[in-house]
Amino acid sequence: MRGAAGGLALFCLLVAATAAAPPPLPDFSLHKLDSGAAGPTLLVIGGIQGDEPGGFTAASLLVTRYKITSGRLWVVPNLNFPSIIRNSRGIHGDMNRKFASLTPQDPEFATVERIKKIMLDLRVDIIVDLHDGSGWYYPTYVDEQRNPQQWGQSIIIDQETVAGSQYGNLLQLAGTMAQQANAHIDDAAKAFHVKNTRTWAGDPEMEKSLSYYAVRNHAPAVAVEATKSLDTENRALVHLYAIEALMQGLGIGFERPFALTPAALRQAMDVGLTLSFYDAKVTLDLSNARKSLPRFPVPRRQALTFSAQNPLVAVSDGGDALRVSYGNRSLTRLQPQYLDFDAGLTAVQLQVDGVAHKVPIGSSAPVRMNFKVMNTSPYRAKVVGLRQRRGPDDSGMTLGRKELQESLSLDQDGNKYRVEFYRGERFAGMIIVDFAREPALAPSRISKAQNGESAGG
Ligand SMILES: [Zn+2]
Repeated sequence: MRGAAGGLALFCLLVAATAAAPPPLPDFSLHKLDSGAAGPTLLVIGGIQGDEPGGFTAASLLVTRYKITSGRLWVVPNLNFPSIIRNSRGIHGDMNRKFASLTPQDPEFATVERIKKIMLDLRVDIIVDLHDGSGWYYPTYVDEQRNPQQWGQSIIIDQETVAGSQYGNLLQLAGTMAQQANAHIDDAAKAFHVKNTRTWAGDPEMEKSLSYYAVRNHAPAVAVEATKSLDTENRALVHLYAIEALMQGLGIGFERPFALTPAALRQAMDVGLTLSFYDAKVTLDLSNARKSLPRFPVPRRQALTFSAQNPLVAVSDGGDALRVSYGNRSLTRLQPQYLDFDAGLTAVQLQVDGVAHKVPIGSSAPVRMNFKVMNTSPYRAKVVGLRQRRGPDDSGMTLGRKELQESLSLDQDGNKYRVEFYRGERFAGMIIVDFAREPALAPSRISKAQNGESAGG
């Protein structure tokens, strides 16, 4: 799904996954956040180089966490998605040198053509391209790390103005962005400066860049370079300072439900790392997943369908497993178990701490002490991690933590367990039982407190 508005949208992808055909690497997504109120349209592009997480993390936060209240924000958070997944500047070379000329044989030809078309869409008023650059740009030579040849902490323009455009005074715009972003930065040594590459005067490298393609075509564009000397959170943070400054300057209104601090930003990044498969018959929260999950049901001889809430989450071929990644990071590896599927089961009866509940397939049930899957004949239940099976069907057994093998939990804390349902050998869906959402004074927490650890959740 492309062009979805708002952070709650699901980004659906189709991936052919059989033992014979590994899933292809995904292409970029465009997210249109339209306030419905008048105002200009800003296009933000992140991830043209796959090893610059500050830029693409900031762009994805715009998609997942921001609300636009006037004007429009279009975001491509993952332009070079295959290179992001591989944590490579460019698996097919530097994409930011492919905007002057490119042969149709180039593996990125279609991607570059597609983004060019979006950039020159007449509704787009101005473009900002996000990068993480080396060192600290400074207009005069200070030392090896801080000098005019460096890129970090700069707002880049190719030239002072773009004629015939309402937002074409790039020098002024970039100056305001730097100044307002710097209002958040206490340490003057970490401040942004405007860098004019004067590409028109003959910079053969920059002439091949995305931003120069825009200005050559009379579309105003600037680039933001955070410095690689900061960690990912702090790079994303300074990107957001600069983007917010630009939005304020343009009159694009926005709301953001988290504070601009590294800790709050880290938390915002880890919200909504859920991945749903097979029309949500399986939904996994992968924010704290184990590095490898065994025997994950994958349909035999069929396309693997999944949807992620976060545009940087992807499922790709990981050799003998399906690799789930979030930006540059691997979240987990799903060891596939190829099965035939059954679509007939929509909900199951679950007794949780003695109380009966109807639990939809694909959802998660909080458990304090124990749970019992009620008989769902002709379906059978399989509790992944159950220490002692009585037979092929695990329904009818009252199970607490001690009956479960912690190493087979979904999460690294041993709180979440898979309960799978089958009709014969056909997979019919999954629910998750979650011991994490128990009240604060459950026995396991009390014993920890007695050992001198905090009982707080
Ligand atoms: Zn870059």
